[in-house]
Parts: sequence; structure tokens; C-alpha cells
Amino acid sequence: MTEGSQPVPQARLRALHAAPPRANGRFVLYWMTATRRARWNFALERAVGLARELQKPLVVLEALRVDYPFASARLHRFVLDGMRANERAFAGKDVFYYPYVEPAVGAGKGLLKALAQDACAVVTDDYPCFFLPAMLARARTDVRVHFEAVDSNGLLPMRTAERAFARAHDFRRFLQRVLAPHLAQPPRQNALARVHLPRLPGLPGDTSRRWPRADARLLGGTPATLAALPIDHAVAPVDLEGGAEAGARVLRRFVGERLEKYGESRNDPDSEATSGLSPYLHFGHVSAHQVLESVAAHEGRSRAEIGGSATGRRAGWWNMRAPAEAFLDQLVTWRELGFNACVQVPGYDRYESLPAWARSTLAKHADDERPEAYGRARFERAETHDELWNAAQNQLRRQGVIHNYLRMLWGKKILHWSKTPRAALATMIELNDKYALDGRDPNSYSGILWTLGKYDRPWGPERPIFGRVRYMTSANTRRKLRVDDYIRRWSSQA
Ligand SMILES: Cc1cc2nc3c(=O)[nH]c(=O)nc-3n(C[C@H](O)[C@H](O)[C@H](O)COP(=O)(O)OP(=O)(O)OC[C@H]3O[C@@H](n4cnc5c(N)ncnc54)[C@H](O)[C@@H]3O)c2cc1C
Repeated sequence: MTEGSQPVPQARLRALHAAPPRANGRFVLYWMTATRRARWNFALERAVGLARELQKPLVVLEALRVDYPFASARLHRFVLDGMRANERAFAGKDVFYYPYVEPAVGAGKGLLKALAQDACAVVTDDYPCFFLPAMLARARTDVRVHFEAVDSNGLLPMRTAERAFARAHDFRRFLQRVLAPHLAQPPRQNALARVHLPRLPGLPGDTSRRWPRADARLLGGTPATLAALPIDHAVAPVDLEGGAEAGARVLRRFVGERLEKYGESRNDPDSEATSGLSPYLHFGHVSAHQVLESVAAHEGRSRAEIGGSATGRRAGWWNMRAPAEAFLDQLVTWRELGFNACVQVPGYDRYESLPAWARSTLAKHADDERPEAYGRARFERAETHDELWNAAQNQLRRQGVIHNYLRMLWGKKILHWSKTPRAALATMIELNDKYALDGRDPNSYSGILWTLGKYDRPWGPERPIFGRVRYMTSANTRRKLRVDDYIRRWSSQA
């Protein structure tokens, strides 16, 4: 990709306070909340642009709260890995990187307001789900200067589609019609290259006393430093390292070693054919544009060579070989469909967001006898009668991920064995958001609601409990896939 000098596309900008930037402020502030990376980041690029125009220092505040739902040692460690990587990435650049780790509930309150009082303008990330939209709405009362949110989430600016799409096929066809010009406007790989800004000597004394910059010990995320934080320690850190550097390594390894077999083996739990990128995409450690760049380079295609006619068909549009096209269909069509729902559907994670046919067929079977009826705690402890399901839940608890195919089965069986479909939805959201590294994401809710019929069509024959919602069984899965090793590996809870 060439490092263009084009401005950040308007379609990615959302004004939260339209006042012009204040020329007599001390710095431009980038409040990094969701796009936690120093490269391929439209929001950083926008903040750099404002700082250059105003000839002011740039402050990047990356904060980690302790009181958001499901805050745990696992999620903290992954985010802290990312903050350490960002500190390295910003070192030596004309940026004041300000990592802040909240030590106690409420301790970080007032930090944004204090910084914004000194700022010319504040730029932040635009992320459409979990607690972040409400946090941004509240921040508007604290930030009285020029304030804007920037969408770095996907290849398509997420507000471009003006309606919610009910089927992946229709969304794919829409993407095939509108995506090409957006592919030609990627973020700069390194928005700080050859950029010279005035440096900020330091924060005002009272700010750094009250909200001290996280030091190497805190960012290290050792067991002792994590133990001091009021977060859920039962959800323990996993071996997977977080951060933009680790994410780039995972991407390189996938494209170099596994992309070739993605199409044929992505459903096989033992072949490790999928990318493993979802936690990095979720925390903003890796960019969808960066992934596309890497896949396209591997396929020998430039961005200008991508695009064909809008048929809605899965294969052919990207002008690449079959495994790359299959992968990009997941990364773009399915991933960005989830963002479309979060932007367009106010209750994107609610039962009511299911299509009418799914609600009606599930209602018709609401009183069907359940072969087993487990409460949330039995599901959580992986104490069902089904060893394959238990293995998937143990993988989620211990490793923070579930293989994609088994994740579908995991959800379908929670529907099968819960007292009601609504209880199934609540259980899935709770367990996925709590344990999955990639949880609390637009694709958490789109994936979970898919198991109840969203983005799908009615299937026959009509069955107990499921009605016409697509049915899956462990027995069929065992016939289709080799799962014995998987079950052995994940049979224990600890
Ligand atoms: C019940 C259930 C819950 C899910 N919860 C989540 C979640 O919390 N977070 C999450 O990111 N995905 C979720 N998914 C979607 C999917 O399971 C994961 O995105 C995928 O398994 C991640 O593994 P990977 O990165 O190796 O995927 P790959 O196969 O390598 O795909 C590359 C990327 O494409 C996207 N993608 C792949 N499959 C899907 C899909 N079916 N739907 C949407 N995007 C997809 C992801 O961003 C993924 O990282 C869920 C699916 C189901 C059925």
C-alpha cells in the first residue's frame, strides 16, 4: 500500500461537539478506547492531522477501567499486553503516550474532563456496542471542545449502510456494490512517519499526581499487579499474548502457513486452519484493512484489482483464489454484518431483534418438553450430559476461545437444553461475554442470535423446541468432524 496523504474519509467521522478546535489549547487529545493500536488507525491519523494543523503536541490517552461488565484478569492481561506494545510503538515519536490503569472503582473519574479542559480538540474511537456508546454519550458532557468519534472498525465505514440487513446474501451484494472506493481509502500504516509535532514536556502536576501514568510494573500485568485490582480473578489470564505486535505475528503466520487450507479445513477443530484473529480484531489490536492488505499481498493482488459485479455470490468478487475468498467473506461480510446490526438496530442484543418467523416458531414450541433443562450454573461449569459440549465450554473457560464450528453447536445446544429461548439467549451472552477474549463484540451478538435464527432462513422438518430454526446435534458433528482429540484435550475443567 502507498502511504497516501488523503484526509480521513468523512464517512468515518462523527461530530460529538462541532465547535471549531480551540487554537489556544495545549494539545490535541486522542482518547483511545477501542482501536487500541498505533498503526492502521483512522482515529490516530485524524488526531495527528489536527495536531499538525494547529502545531500542537499530541496526547494519546489509553485507559483501562476496572468497573466495566466482566472486567477480569483475563481481559485485563490482554489489554495490558496491548498497552505495553503501544508504549513501544509510540516510543521516540512526537507523541505523549499516556497509559492509565484505574486502580479502584471510580478512580479514573474526572481524568477525561481534566485533560479535555486543556485540549484544543478531542478525538476518540467510534465503537457501536457494549458499554462504549453509553460512555461516549456521557463524555459529551465532560468534553466542551471540538469532539469527534472516528470509525476504524471495518473496510466499510459502518454508517454507510442506511438500513439493517436481514440476510448475509443481501449485505454481501450491497458490499459488492459499494465497497471498492472504500478499499482505495485505507488508513495510513504509520500515521506518525515523518511527522514532527511540538512535544509536551509533561502533564500538569495535579493530573499526573491524581491519575499517574501506568509504569512498566503495572503494564507488565504480573499476577501480583493484577491481584491488586478489583476485577474478576476467577476468569484467569490465558497464554495468548495480546497487543498489536502479537496480533501482527498471528496474522503473518496465518497468511503464510494456514490460509491455503482455510476453505477445506476451517471446520476441523484439530487442524488449526482458522486465523485466531478475533481477539485482536475485537480489542482493535489488528485492523481489518491490515488483514486485507496482507491477504491481497499473498495473493499478488493490489487493491485496485479487487471488485467485480454485485451478484451476492460468495466466490469471485475479490479476484483471488478460493481459500482467500472464503476467508475474506468471513472477515468482511459476516464480521461487518454484525457492525451493521449494532448501528441500525437499537436492541441489537435483544430477543426482539430476531426475525418474526424465528420468534413465532420458537414461541410455538415454547412449551415443548426439554430432554434436559440446565440452569446457567450447570452450563457454566460444563456439567451437561454431553462430553463434546462440555469440551467446548471448557475450552471457552480455560482458553477464552471456542473453535467456530463448535461455537455454533455450543449455542444450538444451549437453546435445546434451556427452559426457554430467552433464557438460552441470556446464558449465551453471559458466558460468551464473560469468558471469550473476543466477546462483547458486534459478532458476539450476531453469532449468538444466529443460533436462534437471525440471518438464517426457516428449515425443515419442524422439530421440537427448535421449530423451524436450524438444528444441530453433537452426534452429527461427531460423524462429520474428528473430535476425539478435541474432547480429550478439553475434557477437564481446570
Ligand atoms: C454462538 C456464537 C458466538 C460467537 N461469538 C463471537 C464473538 O464473541 N466474537 C467474535 O468475533 N465472533 C463470534 N462468533 C463468530 C465466530 O465464531 C468467530 O468470529 C470466529 O470463530 C473467530 O475465530 P477466527 O478469528 O479464527 O475466525 P476466522 O475463521 O479466521 O475468520 C476471520 C475473522 O472473520 C470474522 N468471522 C469469522 N466467522 C464469523 C462469523 N460466523 N460471524 C461473524 N464474523 C466472523 C471474525 O472477525 C474472524 O476473526 C460467534 C459465533 C457463534 C455461533
